[in-house]
Amino acid sequence: MSGFAGGAREGAGSCLWVKASLYIHIPFCASKCAYCDFFSVPTSVPTNAASTIIDEYLEALYRDIESQLIFFKIDCVPSIYIGGGTPSLLGGKRIAALLSFLNFAKKTDGGTCELTVEANSESLSEDFIQGCVEGGVSRLSIGVQSLNDASRRAVARRGSSRRIIENIKFLQNKPAALDISFDILSGLPYQHKEILLHDIETLLAFNPAHISLYDLMIEGGGLSGAMLEKLPAGEVKEKMWIAGRDFLESAGYAQYEVSNFAREGKRARHNIRYWMMENWIGCGPSASGTIIDDERGTAIRYTTRHNIFYAPPPLRQTIEHIDRETLLKETLMMGYRYIDGPDEALFKKRFSCTLESVIPKTIAAWRATNFYSETKNTLTPKGLLFLNQFLLDCFDELSRGECGTSSRCR
Ligand code: SF4
Repeated sequence: MSGFAGGAREGAGSCLWVKASLYIHIPFCASKCAYCDFFSVPTSVPTNAASTIIDEYLEALYRDIESQLIFFKIDCVPSIYIGGGTPSLLGGKRIAALLSFLNFAKKTDGGTCELTVEANSESLSEDFIQGCVEGGVSRLSIGVQSLNDASRRAVARRGSSRRIIENIKFLQNKPAALDISFDILSGLPYQHKEILLHDIETLLAFNPAHISLYDLMIEGGGLSGAMLEKLPAGEVKEKMWIAGRDFLESAGYAQYEVSNFAREGKRARHNIRYWMMENWIGCGPSASGTIIDDERGTAIRYTTRHNIFYAPPPLRQTIEHIDRETLLKETLMMGYRYIDGPDEALFKKRFSCTLESVIPKTIAAWRATNFYSETKNTLTPKGLLFLNQFLLDCFDELSRGECGTSSRCR
């Protein structure tokens, strides 16, 4: 881990050293979906079968988790997220072993550690669910994406709608303490509004606590020309996503971030920590971690190389030193995604200034519309649709240097 000066302290509070969430990457998929740019390698190993490559990977992962927790002096882990790739390809025994290993990492300052595991609907199995339940998982985030077989085939997503529904039914007897989230994609080839709404309605029958509804962005790289022609056109695509949003809202799932909806009390705490730019460490290839120095308003970010064969540090990482101005911009970019806006107390602590002092003209101009709250520093649900334009205005104001983002804030 050379290149780091060491971990940043969280300051006063009941944590002795550093508070950081933990992201763990499982870089295996049964095959590659056409739209995906997450790092994963295809594996044909059936769930629970012997696999040298997966077991060696997990051994290296355990060492990495241990060494990062020690190196950064982390003794408070409010949330853990096991994502991928396809964690459900680990099957029941391997996920149980990983979760059992992680027991030592679940250190909190009083609350519970939120523990999320991702699963693909097409490889979700009873023994994987059992492993998650016994391992204390609090959220199971299931990638469904679409129940329309033509759309799935068009983007090379495995599994049929029939198989997916059969697998999701395994959850009908799940314990109440396990919350379910479904990922759904809007804007797929062969998809239109009625198909999307039908998918959402079908999934809501399984009583999820949380839904992520993503507007698919395809630059064209992964799809053939014929499939690109089947993508819904611009305005149709926008209206489709908005219809999905409205349907979820009317069913009691409140939008709390650009793409995320939850029943009351069921927001994803791990993701909120990303949006608030709080510390996290990342374990596994392609995973990144960010450790913030609240005193200076700067950060260090590292990204592990895209290779499932772990090399010793520092070969496996790229390291960025994030200066104050960049961190401030990132804080705006991430914070305004959230329906409650950036954490203003944290902002003040980190940058010694307020949002109003940093982007006063942008706030005033947007507040004059119905896109910005009159009482809080947050975009309204309508305003979230124009987040990119809002951020351009923020950065434009910052670049003009009329506010106090420099030493004048200190
Ligand atoms: S299953 Fe998920 S992580 Fe794997 S290739 Fe498809 S979208 Fe990407």
